[in-house]
Amino acid sequence: MNLRSILSDAVAGHRLSQQEAQFLLSTRGRAVFEVCSAADQVREERAGPVVTYVRNQNLHLSNICKNLCGFCAFGRKATDPGAFCDDRDTVRQKVRLALGRNVSEICLLSGVNPEFDAARYLEILSWVKEDAPGVHVHAFSPDEVSHAAARSGLTTREVMEAMKRAGLGSLQGTAAEILVDRVRAVICPAKVPTAEWVRIIREAHGLGIPTTATIMYGSCETPADRVAHLSILREIQDDTGGFTELVPLSYLHQNTRLFLEGRAPAGATGREDLLLTAVSRLFLDNFRNIQVSWGKLGVKLAQMALLSGANDLAGTMFSDDVSGDAGASGAEFLDPREMERMVKDIGRVLRRRLTDYTLADDQSPAQE
Ligand code: SF4
Repeated sequence: MNLRSILSDAVAGHRLSQQEAQFLLSTRGRAVFEVCSAADQVREERAGPVVTYVRNQNLHLSNICKNLCGFCAFGRKATDPGAFCDDRDTVRQKVRLALGRNVSEICLLSGVNPEFDAARYLEILSWVKEDAPGVHVHAFSPDEVSHAAARSGLTTREVMEAMKRAGLGSLQGTAAEILVDRVRAVICPAKVPTAEWVRIIREAHGLGIPTTATIMYGSCETPADRVAHLSILREIQDDTGGFTELVPLSYLHQNTRLFLEGRAPAGATGREDLLLTAVSRLFLDNFRNIQVSWGKLGVKLAQMALLSGANDLAGTMFSDDVSGDAGASGAEFLDPREMERMVKDIGRVLRRRLTDYTLADDQSPAQE
């Protein structure tokens, strides 16, 4: 295969095959920058010069989890030290704190608590909506939907319809990790299998519930697995158009069982991080938005990912215990003024967006 012709075809609008994407992911040496540069060109055409971010806050309501995935240091058993599950008052306190920070989005990120049924998920939504009726709630993964349905004797469709009525704005495309069952059997054996993740996501899109799409890379998967995953996302997007963006999540290894037991390497390298962003931009020709997770990459590499096909800097977050517990530092809050410095420095413009990527009316960089 010829690198230059694959890249010029991709820039001209040719849809990459899985083999071509895999070839691009294997690039080494200065050719890496050629792939990133082509992805940057496509980004400019598809998403323009603006870099967006959302003013959001993560709320962790429980770290008790039935899945105990090997790549995660956040989830734990109810009897483990540090296990918690917030009651109504604590949830409302956290919501009020988020409101004080002028967020437009609240993101609920918790373990899949074995005790939670559909009624409990709906109750949580009502607690959040009580104090923050106008804030977009981005919450729950297909795995949580599946768990809620099984616990309550409902279908996943019934659960999501009820969640939507209770104020769910969008569903999280998390629990995807790598959509290859051989890999899932190692990194997250208790989570929904690939086919079920795909079915629930398609069902959500069919109900008019948008979702993000994620990929958690850098643990046990091969480049072919990464491409197989992206291919599933591209196929769903062709059919439904329901994904708002791709969120690449680089595996944070330090405190995770997979790494400590020698079953996964120390995460992706910088080359792999940039190439994953660039190849996602080139391969996912039906996605407008490719995000950079500054909490996973660090601010400096995140800036380089913005030159490799990405157009969105995710959110302010204010807290990210999932990354923190895995060993990341500085993953909690990124001040929009710092985002602006990063973005200006590469000749682009920062704009605050809402969850659906419409630009916010008020562009003043609000402070914590
Ligand atoms: S990744 Fe999610 S589902 Fe897996 S152990 Fe962590 S919190 Fe639980």
